[in-house]
Parts: sequence; structure tokens; C-alpha cells
Amino acid sequence: MSLYRKYRPQLFKDLVNQAHVKTTLLTALKRNKIGHAYLFAGPRGTGKTTVARLLAKAINCPNRSPEPCNRCLSCKEHTKLNSLDLIEIDAASNRGIDEIRELRERIKLAPSSCEYKIFIIDEVHMLTTEAFNALLKTLEEPPTHAIFILATTEPHKIPATVLSRCQRFDFVPLSILDMVLRLKKIAHAERIKYDEDGLKMIAAAASGGMRDAISILDQLSSTGKKINVLMVQETLGVVPERAILKLFEAIIREDINAGFDALSRIKEKGYNIIHFRKTLLDFLRSILVYKMSEEDSELKENYSKETYQKVIDLSDEVEIRELIKMIKIIARDSLIEKDTIPSLGLEIAIVELTKRQEPASIVEEVRDEVRDHGPQVKMAKGDFKDHWSRFLEEIKPHNHSLAAILRSARVLGARGNRLLVEVDYDFHRKKIEDKINMQAIEKALKNSFGREIGFECRVGKHEEAEKSLKDIALEVFE
Ligand SMILES: [Zn+2]
Repeated sequence: MSLYRKYRPQLFKDLVNQAHVKTTLLTALKRNKIGHAYLFAGPRGTGKTTVARLLAKAINCPNRSPEPCNRCLSCKEHTKLNSLDLIEIDAASNRGIDEIRELRERIKLAPSSCEYKIFIIDEVHMLTTEAFNALLKTLEEPPTHAIFILATTEPHKIPATVLSRCQRFDFVPLSILDMVLRLKKIAHAERIKYDEDGLKMIAAAASGGMRDAISILDQLSSTGKKINVLMVQETLGVVPERAILKLFEAIIREDINAGFDALSRIKEKGYNIIHFRKTLLDFLRSILVYKMSEEDSELKENYSKETYQKVIDLSDEVEIRELIKMIKIIARDSLIEKDTIPSLGLEIAIVELTKRQEPASIVEEVRDEVRDHGPQVKMAKGDFKDHWSRFLEEIKPHNHSLAAILRSARVLGARGNRLLVEVDYDFHRKKIEDKINMQAIEKALKNSFGREIGFECRVGKHEEAEKSLKDIALEVFE
């Protein structure tokens, strides 16, 4: 017997997740409020069929508490799927009017041994229009002994007339954490050896579907070896986190060679590029969530400890604005994949993202100014860019994330003897204005510009910044 069948929950309390569905159904069972039609909607592997069978068993159990007793004859027959009063129909293969007509005939017959005759119709959205109409007639006037449980992955395809007859329950994808918990339980019961990151990767690969996750566990455990990350990667062709990290690092460091290197390794190993892009976008999204909210649970749950630590370090060096740009560019050319070279879109993205950018257009602007106005502007030999780069280097050992914030800041110029700098977010300003940070900034400014310079920071919009840039910047060099 497959592990999935062996460990299919036989009590509501054994269900992972879907707490809202569980509570509502148990309360209804307790109060004996049994409906005639239920609709279970949600992605595959989220427990719709499992809950449908549990509900059927509980409804027909004379000893329910409200959990089914699992000991009476009815419960035993339901567990074995042998009960004559539990009828399961797969609408994917029985989609026509004839099947539903036959069903309507069967509904009329009284239950053979239980109180109710329960019909589970899986993938109900696959029914033809005629079949839906026939089903609707039954739902409008169901015999008192009949109960329908309709399950679907695509509720939007079900006619409103049918929907309005059903009590609807929405099943949500399982979180990686929940899936790992369940996998662990099974692994313990089956004495399967594993390491935690291996299970995490199985859960991630199953993307929210418990059935797929348990099948993978089943498949891997048959080797008899300890389940670890490497084994999961090799068996499933899961994109290694390390490859994603390498590419991310290359983009941050604007290192085009490292970027292409990472991508060609992915190609060599035969990973699906479309899948890789999706995994990469998922990864960047998790970092974005972390950067915006300082909330790291998604990163912690979805990635190995090693990757997590590295990501936290690296993410200091990248700004929210840059991350969004990365995501946009990487997501953009996905159309190219469909008909030409699968990796082309990503290659273009890497080129674009590793293109070295000037810290600010200030250098060009100052140069233009010098050219236009001739020798009266005394430019230091090393221009502003060099001073500013030196300043950033000075700051880095003091505090990496402060350096990252300053790198993304826009230099507006000088106000008196103060350098005026603009950042995108108030929490950046606060970080800069922290007393200890400010002392470090002033010291680094003195070291890199060769004189005392004050520092002023404001929060503002990018567009306004560009205009005033050159006028005030010139004051710094005069
Ligand atoms: Zn029972």
C-alpha cells in the first residue's frame, strides 16, 4: 500500500491545515446540521477528497462524537471504501449526461445500510453543460437520504446555479512547515531516516500538495538511504539552491561572467529553464518580503539553513528598488522561452542587470558642466565619483547595511558645507541618522574628501532629485 493511502487521515484531528474547514464541519456534525450539498474547492493535494470521505464516514457513523468512531461496521466499510452508500464518481472520466442520468436513478434508491447515501463527485467542473443541468435538477429537490459532496480544482467553471445550492469550503495550499511536520510524522512511523532540509525540499517541490509530497517521500524511502537535500535534488531535478544563490550574488556584484557561469551550469545539468526562472522569481520574492517587512519566516521555512544565512547577508547589499527591478526584468522576457531559445530571456536579463551603473549621474553632469562653463570650475583631479566611492568603501567595514543604503542613496549636492543626500524610505533615513552611524559617516567623509563635510539626509522621490543635482554638486568642488 502506498504511504499516502496508508497515512490518509481517518479523523478530522489528523488533518494538517484547513483549520477553518475542520472547525466548521465538526461544529455542524456536532449540531446534527447536515447539508445536502457541499462544494470543496482548492488546488490538488490539499485534502478535498480526504475530507469528503471523512465527512461521509462521520455522517454515517451512529457513534460519531463528532469524529467518526472508526470501529463500527459503517466506519470500517467507509475506511475500506467498500460501503454501498458511499459512491465516488470521477467527473473527469464520467462527464456526460448519461452518467448523471444514471446517478439520478441511483439516488432514488434508499441507502442500503446507512442513514445516508453519499455521492462524492470529483473534478466536478469537468461535467458537460447538459450533465450540470441534470445535476442541478437533483440538487434542487434531493431525496432526504442523499448528500452530495462536489470537489473541484476550478470552482470558477461551475455554473452559479449549482454553486448557489452548495455549502462552499475553500481549501488552501499547505504551507511548507505544515507539510514538513506531516512528512516527519510519517517518516518516524515508517522509520525512514531523513535530514530536515531534505524534507523541506520535498515539500517545496510538491508546491502545497500533500499527496505529491508523500509520494516523493515514498519513492525516496524505497532506496533505504537517508533522505537528504542532494538525494532529493538528484531524484527530482530540483534546482539546487546554490545555483540560485550564485546567480543572485552575480547580479548584486554586477559580475556578468559569474552570472553566465551560473546559468550555463544550470543548463549543463539539464534543468528546465522555465522552472528555474520560476524558482528564481520565488526566491527574489521571498527576499523582497524580508526586505520590506524584516519578516524572515518565509525565507527560514522555504530554504535550508545555509542558504538562509547567506541570503540574509547578501540581502543587506541590495536595495528594495533594485530587487523590484530585478524581478521585473527577470519576469519580463518569459515569452521568448516559448518559441526560441529557452535561456535567452534570462541571458538578456543577466546582461541588463550586471551592466555596471554609475552611482549617480552626477559624474556626467559635473563633466558636462565643466565642458560648458570652462575652467572657472575647479574640479579636483579625482572627480566626485572617486571621492564618493572611497567614502562608501570607508563605511563598509563599519556597517554593511549602512553602506548598502548609502550606495543606493542619491547625492543631491551640498547645502553650505553639508552634503545633501536623498533616500527612498524613512527607515533608511533613521538608520543613517543613528548617532553612531552618523559619527562613522562624518569620519569617512573627512577621510575620503580630505576635509570636514557635514551630512544631511532626507526622504524623497527619485524624479525630483535629478534636477537640483548639478547646481548644488558644483558647490562641493569649488
Ligand atoms: Zn463509526
